[in-house]
Amino acid sequence: MKYVNYTRIPIKHFDPEQRLRSLDMQTLVPYTLDEVVAESSRCLGCGLCIQGCPARIDVPGYQIAMANGNIEDGLKINFEKLPFVEVCGNVCPHPCEDSCILDDNKGSIATRHIKRYISENLPDYKDVLKVSIQDLGGHPSVAIVGAGPAGLTLAFYLSINGIKVDVYEATDKPGGTMVHGIPGFRLPRESIKKEAEHILSYGSRIFYNARIGRDVPFEKLLKEYSAVYLAVGNWKPTRTKISGENLRGVYHALDFLNRVNGGEKIDVGKSVVIIGGGFTAYDAARISLRLGAEKVAMLYRRSEVDRPGYPSSNADEELEEAGEERVIFDWETSPSEYTGENGKVTGLKYWKNQMVDTGKGRRQPVPLKDREYSIEVDTVIEATGQREDLSFIPSQIMEKLKTTPGGDLIVNQYNMTSYPGIFAGGDITNKRKDIISGVADSGRASMGILLYLKEQGKINRVPQRLTNYEGGPYSTTYYEMEDREMSASTPSPTEIRN
Ligand SMILES: Cc1cc2nc3c(=O)[nH]c(=O)nc-3n(C[C@H](O)[C@H](O)[C@H](O)COP(=O)(O)OP(=O)(O)OC[C@H]3O[C@@H](n4cnc5c(N)ncnc54)[C@H](O)[C@@H]3O)c2cc1C
Ligand code: SF4
Repeated sequence: MKYVNYTRIPIKHFDPEQRLRSLDMQTLVPYTLDEVVAESSRCLGCGLCIQGCPARIDVPGYQIAMANGNIEDGLKINFEKLPFVEVCGNVCPHPCEDSCILDDNKGSIATRHIKRYISENLPDYKDVLKVSIQDLGGHPSVAIVGAGPAGLTLAFYLSINGIKVDVYEATDKPGGTMVHGIPGFRLPRESIKKEAEHILSYGSRIFYNARIGRDVPFEKLLKEYSAVYLAVGNWKPTRTKISGENLRGVYHALDFLNRVNGGEKIDVGKSVVIIGGGFTAYDAARISLRLGAEKVAMLYRRSEVDRPGYPSSNADEELEEAGEERVIFDWETSPSEYTGENGKVTGLKYWKNQMVDTGKGRRQPVPLKDREYSIEVDTVIEATGQREDLSFIPSQIMEKLKTTPGGDLIVNQYNMTSYPGIFAGGDITNKRKDIISGVADSGRASMGILLYLKEQGKINRVPQRLTNYEGGPYSTTYYEMEDREMSASTPSPTEIRN
């Protein structure tokens, strides 16, 4: 160890003042090839990180490839599990890095920055992967509801197995929350476009402005397709319901980000307050600064060490990047009322909280209501969460779908719901609610749907692996091996996973 430089190669940041002048300028300067080779050469190959990755990507495999400068193998290893390498190279919360054995020593391997290098330096994935479409002895049709990362991942793995895929998307573009929520300065629009177009190039059809339940009845899907995958994400805002919420200048972050990402220039004034502390709150805060706000404060009801995602390197990074841009953090603070004049918000009243350990889970914030504070504001953005909207599913079918008390759909180990033939994944099923978890759901669901189609006599065989790239296999880890004998169509209560 003494003779090897085992310290993580630092990533450089673009100048924050310049960043604030643009809605698109990236925060991080990409690694050079020399930096990638040096960084991936630090990997010990222990494989601990694979368990940290929800999609179980062969992380050490692509470190070995990149330590040898073999970028094409680096891409193929990722693609065994992940068709969104560039997206995740930019915005994955990289839980694998938190499992890296070097994390407490000289810094975990910078897997996300390495992934970004691989994808950004290979413009034509198709040319690298050279996919052989598998012939499973049948070409049944599967419907996917929603073209976010979960829906599109399923479209990729099924279409390269010769399954006919139709994707129904409520909006006019693919990408889901990646395009309507995450801002361009964190995730370039070209990256989403490149990866969505690549996925759709294997024959999936996509219908835009086709909201199931409004433009297309749900029953049509059950009638015309051999299986249905629900990947509609969480699009229903959760509001604070405090007084003044309907004043002009008070937004929910989903609506605010959707409008700004759609090109609208919202006048946020000089002083903006964000309520919340997760992904969405940081994005709303950083966008507000780019829209001209002079002072942006994030009010979060818990303490810094109780914030969403903490402790993790991703939580540290988002705090650092927002801090560089002068976002102010007010921990242990709860809004009590929005005040206004002539229907427009002008102020916010709030309490400070005491964090109380109840002995169950995270410490709870308890407002100290004997003293109320107030500040002047021009805009308030509530980043207080969002949830699923399954109202497009007819009640007689909904009654048969098991859900958690929170409303998420319950699925088995192949992401099939309690209604045979209806599968689900992404934010409506998993707890983490990030892109890589949605991708992992869709990997399992792809194998589950193939098993189901075989049971229904629609295909003759189920492949050993979902992928068939020239020269492969490119990974040592797969989803499907352990439970191959198990039926995908008859989930018993013990098989149901949440
Ligand atoms: C502001 C913000 C920042 C985020 N930042 C990150 C990040 O940095 N890293 C990360 O990993 N995750 C991040 N996330 C979370 C991530 O975006 C989601 O976990 C992920 O997009 C969920 O994928 P999904 O496919 O389940 O749903 P979505 O991406 O939400 O896609 C669902 C799709 O279904 C469509 N749809 C909905 N209802 C219907 C219907 N009835 N008919 C047809 N189509 C329908 C929607 O239009 C949408 O296109 C962020 C989320 C937000 C809101
Ligand atoms: S845990 Fe770290 S050192 Fe071990 S294989 Fe993964 S990236 Fe390499």
